[in-house]
Amino acid sequence: MNHLTDIDALSDEQINNLLDEALRYDRIIRAGQDLKGPLAGILQFNLFYENSTRTSLSFEVAGKRLGADVVAVPVAASSVHKGESLRDTVLTLAAQGADIMVLRASGAGTIDASKVALKEAGFGTAIVNAGEGAFGHPTQALLDAATLMSAFERTPDDDGLRGLSIAILGDLVHSRVAASCCALFARLGADLRLCAPQELLPTSKPDGVGLVTTSRFEALEGVDVAMALRMQTERFEADLAIDPAGYREDFGLTMDALSFAKPTAFVMHPGPMNRGIEIDSDVADDPSRSLILQQVAMGVPTRMAVLRHAANR
Ligand code: ASP
Repeated sequence: MNHLTDIDALSDEQINNLLDEALRYDRIIRAGQDLKGPLAGILQFNLFYENSTRTSLSFEVAGKRLGADVVAVPVAASSVHKGESLRDTVLTLAAQGADIMVLRASGAGTIDASKVALKEAGFGTAIVNAGEGAFGHPTQALLDAATLMSAFERTPDDDGLRGLSIAILGDLVHSRVAASCCALFARLGADLRLCAPQELLPTSKPDGVGLVTTSRFEALEGVDVAMALRMQTERFEADLAIDPAGYREDFGLTMDALSFAKPTAFVMHPGPMNRGIEIDSDVADDPSRSLILQQVAMGVPTRMAVLRHAANR
């Protein structure tokens, strides 16, 4: 079994293999071919301590399509609400035979701590990070990279994302998606720009990022891709007041703002979207520009690749 905890914990070879495999599964699904059930006999628990639609469902669909036995843990109805610690829940699922545990949790270090607890208790269960607080969401970054490679007809081993300029706009400080996308896209050779109001910008420039700016037009000037992030008000500190209308005016992905990007530029958003705040509906729903539903679709084959990596099959 192999853990998948963080982009930085993956080698270049592992990243390329995961992306190759995701794109291969995408083609197989589109062609309606047989998936052959390589995870038959694997027990996969999905344990989500934060809400999720796309991620939890795509891990469930991915596991089922590969023939695993998939159990979505009903956290709201579980002993979590009797005060059981995450560590004890993780060990309980491992004791019931979990081969793979897909885990979403909010605390910093929760994923690593679960990995250590499993090891100390002698379990071989693989942990897959399905989103850790504001810190990382590696499978979202992988599916976004696979979506871009498919859209730009690139391959992981050949040109990756080399030379593509990608602007990420929005609530950067609370976004685990941005953290993982920056780490992965930079490793794949993209030219990255980050844009947000000052209070939502990272305090220092992340590795591999070329530009950090509060100017939407500077960020979008001539880019190949514009990715908007959700305003994560559930993570806002009490004193952080952002007015949605003002935000849209200065930082929203509107058609006007997009006119600064290349005429062929694609638009992305990890979902769920706050329409009319970080992205306008005419942008999000423009089939010639928006990759948003392709991102959702790529969630399944990417998580199939991730589950096979975790199961080492
Ligand atoms: N769905 C993504 C996540 O789980 C993005 C978001 O919630 O804004 O992080």
